[in-house]
Formats: sequence, structure tokens, C-alpha cells
Amino acid sequence: MRKRIIAGNWKMYKSLEEAKSFAIEVQEKAAASEKLEAVICPPALYLSELVQITKGSAVGIGAQTMHDVKEGAFTGEISPAMLSEIGVGYVVLGHSERRQYFNETDESVNKKVHAAFDYKLTPIVCVGESLEDRESGQTVELVAGQVKKAFEGVCADLAAQAVIAYEPIWAIGTGKTATAQDANEVCGAIRTTIGELYNETVADQIRIQYGGSVKPDNIEELLTMEHIDGALVGGASLDPASFLKLLEAG
Ligand code: PGA
Repeated sequence: MRKRIIAGNWKMYKSLEEAKSFAIEVQEKAAASEKLEAVICPPALYLSELVQITKGSAVGIGAQTMHDVKEGAFTGEISPAMLSEIGVGYVVLGHSERRQYFNETDESVNKKVHAAFDYKLTPIVCVGESLEDRESGQTVELVAGQVKKAFEGVCADLAAQAVIAYEPIWAIGTGKTATAQDANEVCGAIRTTIGELYNETVADQIRIQYGGSVKPDNIEELLTMEHIDGALVGGASLDPASFLKLLEAG
């Protein structure tokens, strides 16, 4: 049985005070569960404080991006070693906004996946097609290609511990969710791709989230699907009551 994982991607939202009060409320109310991992991914500046607030609770903390080397002359960047040292457990990699606005490529995502594992961070690897790709029938091919490149050179044992987030770009922040069936079909294709790259065991263990306009009123149906093991949630993760509802559904 795969443990579900629901992660809130706050993007560049919230003041420090809002972030802290959210974390205090959610870590008090989120019940520890054998079946569900809960993760908050705040802006990098708040990671340290949120790690302290949520220590020992059912809520883990993740970064939204990072560099791929331990240290160096990279003005403005944050390294995997730094995240690991302050107690961050997860890192979102290759989010479509990073690919679109910050020049992330399949190649840089692959380097970051390796770096995440080197520093014991669980990567949440984002893949997904544009509306154009979907309309021209290239979704599965494109997403499978992103997965193959992201996992190049990653051994089976580590790959099994990764999380993949399938996020169709046209569904992010638009209020348009993929139907549960469509989302499941692509998540299933991702699992098949992992099976081909590795083996059935890894395909069975790796967790695949759906992301793109997930809300308390559509998460339940998504989670009934065979290949959907959780959600990566933007907008609906910003309000504590809404995030707690998402966790209850998990
Ligand atoms: P959304 O964002 O839930 O606001 O659509 C999802 C994401 O970007 O991870």
C-alpha cells in the first residue's frame, strides 16, 4: 500500500506572520496518520521557522526549488545541503512555473533530483503538458519523456522513494481540473513508464500526485483513482481550514 501524500505549494504568497500562524494551527490539528503524509512548501525565507514550528508533528516541510550543488558562487541560490541542514524534508522540482519563468529544463531537473537524493531530501518531481500538447494528442508521450529524463541515472532504490506530481499546465490556477479519469490515465502512464525504466516493484512503490485546481470538493474523487496517491495543491492550500479539509479527504 502506498502512503498518500498531500502537499501545499504556497508559491510566493503569505507574510511571515501568516505563515507562522498557519503552521501553528495546522500542526495542532493535523492528526498523525499511517496512511497520509502532509507537507507544506512555503517560500524559502520561512522554511527554517516552519521546520521549528512543525517539529514532531504530522506535518513535513518542503522547499519549492533549490540549486543542484552543495555550495558555490551562485548569487541568490539555496543549496540542497542548506535545506537538509535546517531540517527540510522535501523539495518540489521542475514545477511548470519554474520551467516557464526560470528556464528549468528536463536536464536541470534531473541534476536536482540527484542532488535531492544526495542530501536525503524527497523530491516531488513535477511533470505535465500544456493545452496545446493535450489538444494535439501528445500528453502521454510528452509526460513520459519528462519522467524518463528526470530519472536518468537514478537507481531503483532511490526512484522508489520519489514522488511525481502530474500537473497539467492548463489546470494550474485556472479552476479547470482534469477529470479524475483523465488524470488517472496519465498517472497510470507515468507508472507504466517507471515500470519500464526500473521494474514492477518500483512502479508499485512510487507515489504519484495529481495537481491543478485541486480543492476540498474535488479531491475525494481524484483520490479514488487507482494511480493517484495524493495531490500537490496551490490555491486551496493557502487557507488553513481548506488545507485541513484536503488532509481529511486523504
Ligand atoms: P493550483 O496550483 O492548485 O492553484 O492549481 C497547483 C500547483 O501549481 O502546484
